Amino acid sequence: MTEPRWQSAAIPSNLSLARERIARAAERSGRAASEIALIAVSKTFPAEAIRAAFEAGQRDFGENRVQEFESKREKLADLPARWRLIGHLQSNKARRAAHLFHSVDSLDSLDLARRLDAAAQGEGKRLAVLIEVHLSAESSKTGVSESDFPALAEAVLALPHLDLRGLMAIPPFFDDPQRARPHFRRLRKLRDDLSRRLARPLPALSMGMSHDFEVAIEEGSSEVRLGTAIFGQRTPRP
Ligand SMILES: *Cc1c(COP(=O)(O)O)cnc(C)c1O
Repeated sequence: MTEPRWQSAAIPSNLSLARERIARAAERSGRAASEIALIAVSKTFPAEAIRAAFEAGQRDFGENRVQEFESKREKLADLPARWRLIGHLQSNKARRAAHLFHSVDSLDSLDLARRLDAAAQGEGKRLAVLIEVHLSAESSKTGVSESDFPALAEAVLALPHLDLRGLMAIPPFFDDPQRARPHFRRLRKLRDDLSRRLARPLPALSMGMSHDFEVAIEEGSSEVRLGTAIFGQRTPRP
């Protein structure tokens, strides 16, 4: 039998190490560790790994596919965790996403926003959303362009069943995480400018992954999305 590629025994220590690193990065930048949320990205890992993290005190989890999470969710129905969709969402899955998740962090089009608003109304809830911004030509292809995002933000504010909390971005991958710094700084500026223009707080700045979250925290991240650092290496999907 092959060893599982995740080990539930390692999850509590991975979590406490990650929390310590978050606290140290916060301290270096004159911030309180309590300002920074840790989202454990459990995509590709089984429900048992999520349960092990929950038992170690973790409450926020990020998944990137509706279908994958739907099957895990059944096994986790008893856990009062906060489930967040961080991967690209196709409009035709808006209804399922609004049912399954507390927050959609990857909102990137007006069509999707309208469908999520209608779906949230059907669920009788107000759905938290982040707008995902596509920062540069080299970065991930998902997200709304910098030029289109202010109009999208204004349209989202007018949708009564969506609660716009802030922005998310995935900068390009660099071996040296310091090189991601200008991208994090850029996202923060976009958030600050938008918040000023809308005269409305946008507290969430979701940026930073396992290899670069300390730099992201130094640049103002309010939530880091850690997969590998908590659950271990992912095996590529077939
Ligand atoms: C997979 C994923 C993460 C976590 O990546 P790690 O490098 O394993 O920490 C964070 N954010 C998004 C959007 C992801 O898809």
